[in-house]
Amino acid sequence: MAKPTREIRATKIVATIGPRAEKDGELVRLLSAGVDVFRLNGAHCQPGDIARRVSLVREAERVVGRPVGILLDLGGPKIRVGPIEGDTTVWKDGDLVEILPGLRTGSGKRISVTYPALLSEVRPGAEIRIADGLIRLRVEKRDAASLKARVLAGGTVRKGAGVNFPSSALSAPAVTAKDRRDLREGLEAGIQFVGLSFVRSVEHVKTLRRLIAAADPERRPWIVSKIERAEAVRDLREIAAASDALMVARGDLGVETGLAAVPGAQRAILKVGRELSVPVIVATQMLESMVEHPVPTRAEVSDVANAVNDGADAVMLSGETAVGAYPVEAVRTMDEIARVAETQRSVPLEIPEREDRGEDHTPVVCDVAVVAARRSGAKAMVVYTASGRTARLLSKGVSRIPIVAITSSEEVRRRLTLLRNVVSYRIPPSSSVEEMIASGDRVLREHALTSATVVEVSGAAALEGATNTVRIRTIRPSRR
Ligand code: PEP
Repeated sequence: MAKPTREIRATKIVATIGPRAEKDGELVRLLSAGVDVFRLNGAHCQPGDIARRVSLVREAERVVGRPVGILLDLGGPKIRVGPIEGDTTVWKDGDLVEILPGLRTGSGKRISVTYPALLSEVRPGAEIRIADGLIRLRVEKRDAASLKARVLAGGTVRKGAGVNFPSSALSAPAVTAKDRRDLREGLEAGIQFVGLSFVRSVEHVKTLRRLIAAADPERRPWIVSKIERAEAVRDLREIAAASDALMVARGDLGVETGLAAVPGAQRAILKVGRELSVPVIVATQMLESMVEHPVPTRAEVSDVANAVNDGADAVMLSGETAVGAYPVEAVRTMDEIARVAETQRSVPLEIPEREDRGEDHTPVVCDVAVVAARRSGAKAMVVYTASGRTARLLSKGVSRIPIVAITSSEEVRRRLTLLRNVVSYRIPPSSSVEEMIASGDRVLREHALTSATVVEVSGAAALEGATNTVRIRTIRPSRR
């Protein structure tokens, strides 16, 4: 087990896995290279895939001997091109094409898209983007059967390609029937995080929270709201406040808002995350060229380093680890870039403004602890956490002082894998606060913190929401 010192990388690495994860030794190789959280992309999962892959992750977790988080990213209401004769058709700039709702097999200048409400929600003047925005259309006419659209930027249209309607307010549900099935399978298998795609409003986050509570009131995985629609960028603060984490989903965000708007949106999302103590994952095309090449481009290296310097809690690999030719190299590369970038952190960490939360004083206790840690020269912050929330509230406050989270729950340790700057250790369940802290001190001594000054955050009871105590203390050597 690593010592809680600067040898530890503060920024976490999320790696997407697919069918190749089922190859012997693949997951252990990725974990050994530095992965903290595995992501399963629900959009590409068939029934049974999630349960099988979660159980393989748990086997690999046992081999490497540290907790591993699992993010199930629900596919959401992604709209796609329907079947096409011969699977593709080529459109030229200026062509007039016809778009139908449903799954009718298309050909030539006519295709279907998998959105039943197409004709009522997409109006003349609206833009349609296909295949990550490579193909662009403008709707000219709408009748009872189809939309007629002019091709602004042509190309090859493939069956199954993604379709976006950036200027239309669509009413698609946040969670589809397939998402519900995937969610049930994931909850039963034991995931820690659920990714919610195409969030448009805080209501979508609340809907998912209700579904999770109904399916499994015990586990309560954290909700990661994926910011990939213009509406979500506009309602960022409200969505962030209702979520447990955010993802800058730059793939669809780039299609929806235009590529040039992505860097600004990323900075805004990271800022809101810092202000509300909500962890943020920066995702998509971070080391894209490593899908095919063993080394990244200079621009990709800068992109990862800038995300780290801007305070990202986690950086994510998608195709690089799911289907790329150099998955382990991609993880090692990310690990190295993050470590170097962390020595040059540029974002000043301010104590966030907190809204009045009535009886809930934990955020205030955490702010006091952060000031104490910064001014006392503490070697670590030690936090006793029952649900992981206190560690989350502390995690962005100190950049140079590791946060050691102590909990009796292995499940909570798995959750903490997403939090910047947090390492976790497990102690047995305790019947009193004194017993809990004595167990914690034993663990701290084992991990080289004997005689170190630490700032300790704990509660009147080992319960969620009971955090009320900040102490500056020195971990004494054991008397025995
Ligand atoms: C994205 O769009 O950037 C993203 C992470 O989502 P997905 O991979 O599900 O399209």
